[in-house]
Amino acid sequence: MDKSIFIKDLKMNFERKEVLKGINLEIDKGTIIGYIGPNGAGKSTTVKIILGLVEGYTGIVKIFGEDISNGNDEYKKRIGYVPEVAETYESLTAREYLTFIGQLYGLEYDIADKKAYELMDILGIKESYNSKIGSFSKGMKQKVVIISSLIHNPDILFLDEPLSGLDANSVMIIKEIMIGLKDEGKTIFYSSHIMEVVEKISDRIVLLNNGNIVADGNFDDLKESVHQNSLEQVFNQLTGFSEYKELASKFISVIKEV
Ligand code: ADP
Ligand code: MG
Repeated sequence: MDKSIFIKDLKMNFERKEVLKGINLEIDKGTIIGYIGPNGAGKSTTVKIILGLVEGYTGIVKIFGEDISNGNDEYKKRIGYVPEVAETYESLTAREYLTFIGQLYGLEYDIADKKAYELMDILGIKESYNSKIGSFSKGMKQKVVIISSLIHNPDILFLDEPLSGLDANSVMIIKEIMIGLKDEGKTIFYSSHIMEVVEKISDRIVLLNNGNIVADGNFDDLKESVHQNSLEQVFNQLTGFSEYKELASKFISVIKEV
């Protein structure tokens, strides 16, 4: 069976800096991958390469069995993306924005319009369907971005901090949606710094540090391999971070300076 994502010896440099140093990953359909690592580890770069937004890499990247460098961009219609910092068009209404995105992904206007309204209704923001996105709260914008990433029913979903700005009730809905989509055979690539959520929903956790994969397995394997109890502890140990207490106390000393 073809893997939904296949990455072999992926390397990427920006100027002289090696940002990805040889990533290998094969991901099955119907999996939630927690793709985690410290700031600057190379998570977003990996995702942007797969999405065709960053060029100049070496190695092989195949999506649904097809090499993405073959010039055929059809695969992009089967992908959804929630970027860490989403650019929504503030001067458009939610309706204008979502029907525009839906049409970019190949949906008919009327279908996109109906789906967008229904999805906003379910997430409790239908009253704002015809309001400008610029007037929305952070949580409302985040809901619109999540809807825009899913309106075309993609087979692979890339999520970069998808829960940011959402209240606890909305977080529960979105987590349940992710699990439901996975059960339908979708592949979800989930990047977040909220370790409690990553450890709960991921079938497999890939920890990136400094451009290398330093751990790859399910939560139980990871805990066992380093004799730790939480993903936060696994994360800190494998990324060599132990001075948080020292840094916190230094920080407090400086703010107390007169
Ligand atoms: P993460 O998402 O894990 O925080 P990124 O993939 O965004 O990490 O970044 C990895 C490294 O690549 C960082 O050091 C970042 O500064 C660098 N980087 C990312 N994009 C660019 C770019 N367009 N030009 C130069 N350096 C970049
Ligand atoms: Mg990032």
